[in-house]
Amino acid sequence: MTEFDFDLFVIGAGSGGVRAARVAAGHGARVAIAESDRFGGTCVIRGCVPKKLLVQASHYAQDFEDARGFGWSVPQATFSWPAMVAAKEQEVSRLSRIYENLLETSQVTLLRSAARFVDSHTVSVAGRLLRARHFLIATGGQPSRPALPGIELAITSNEAFDLPSLPRRLLIVGGGYVAVEFAGIFHGLGADVTLAYRGEQILRGFDDDVRQHLFDEMSRAGIRVLLGSRIGSLARRSDARIDVEFDTNPVSAECFDHVMYATGRAPNVAGLKLDAAGVALAAGGGIAVDAFCRTSAAHIFAVGDVTDGIALTPVAIRQGAAVANSLFGAVQQAADLTLVPSAVFSQPPIGTVGLSEAAALDQFGVIDVYRSRFRPLRHALSGRDERTLMKLVVDHTTQRVVGAHMVGPDAPEIIQGLALALRLGASKADFDATLGIHPTSAEEFMTLQDKQTLRKSN
Ligand code: FAD
Repeated sequence: MTEFDFDLFVIGAGSGGVRAARVAAGHGARVAIAESDRFGGTCVIRGCVPKKLLVQASHYAQDFEDARGFGWSVPQATFSWPAMVAAKEQEVSRLSRIYENLLETSQVTLLRSAARFVDSHTVSVAGRLLRARHFLIATGGQPSRPALPGIELAITSNEAFDLPSLPRRLLIVGGGYVAVEFAGIFHGLGADVTLAYRGEQILRGFDDDVRQHLFDEMSRAGIRVLLGSRIGSLARRSDARIDVEFDTNPVSAECFDHVMYATGRAPNVAGLKLDAAGVALAAGGGIAVDAFCRTSAAHIFAVGDVTDGIALTPVAIRQGAAVANSLFGAVQQAADLTLVPSAVFSQPPIGTVGLSEAAALDQFGVIDVYRSRFRPLRHALSGRDERTLMKLVVDHTTQRVVGAHMVGPDAPEIIQGLALALRLGASKADFDATLGIHPTSAEEFMTLQDKQTLRKSN
């Protein structure tokens, strides 16, 4: 009998864990993976995938309306929430099975239960003690809600995917990407949506023009966005709806069918018994890791949302692969997280890569900013008063493009390509020299002329 049952034991079969397990097994390592829920993790079961399907579902409402401007007569369209939830569930289950099959065909041992550390080389899974040479913690995160009276009445994104019926009146609390995405989804599906955020503008951390532009578009579309708004308490009414007290001056109260909190996520560390393994936490509450995702215990690694890093699926996947390659491949690898592109599937959507105007100004001192706001061609006929924003942020000295931002149809698809250009160090002159594809919105990025030079004030 060898000293260890496995070369690598992975805790959590989400984006990061599954990739690490498969890559490690591909290198010939003996790998086990424990999962306490369905295989696939947040992204597949209650994140990116079902969310994007719901965005698609809700967007049809606009598409039916817009089609009239193109000569279509569209009879009154109706939507069935239970039918959509069932279709979504079918796809999520299909993907979850694919994840399981991929692991099984990679010869990874699947354990369908939660794992917790007993000592630094041993975990307990459903009463079994298993020993491994290395561990990877990839347990992700879960929605967190603030403590206030009646908070147990509020749902989170987890429950929003499977509500028994479509809410007529919904309050979403939060200003991050999950909050604005769900506001767009439920508004598109016909709910009366209010988004309440305590900060001064939604989407903290994004470029300020992008934040303002989306706020304007959401408001124009009919979503009520309350900024500087604080919730005091929630209380159940006799008709099952929820009374919400807004703690803003003057105090007011309103009634909603559901209240959804999207006010952040907390790493899944409780229950892992990390102290038994000597794994320390970082200041933000996630597992502390170095650039190689190594924790304070040299043979234990952590990737993805359970750390305090960037909480995106491609990041977790890249980190998982890097850990597996470092342990069992020929080279020591750290995930390269420079220029991580990202999207917000709001309506209209956002695509962004690189630095915001404020961050670039701070870093480079002098920058050139190019902006364009225009009405996409389709809206010339649809009549919809929706504007697209495109913006390039350029380091004035080197003329290198250091940030690209867009709010408008297809923004995530367009920015994905620009992420490659920025990675290759494209200058503004390179953008200018690139021929556009006509007629597209994307070509506007190649012809931006309206320049503003900004200097950092001391
Ligand atoms: P997860 O995918 O969360 O996987 C962790 C797994 O560990 C889970 O399956 C969990 O059940 C399991 N687990 C936990 N504890 C234990 C234990 N003790 N034992 C065994 N198993 C355990 N990212 C994007 O890139 N694009 C998007 O559009 C996007 N949309 C999102 C929308 C929503 C609503 C949410 C919530 C997230 C979204 N994300 C998106 C973020 C993305 O889902 C996460 O960044 C990604 O899933 C993180 O992967 P992970 O491997 O770290 O953890």
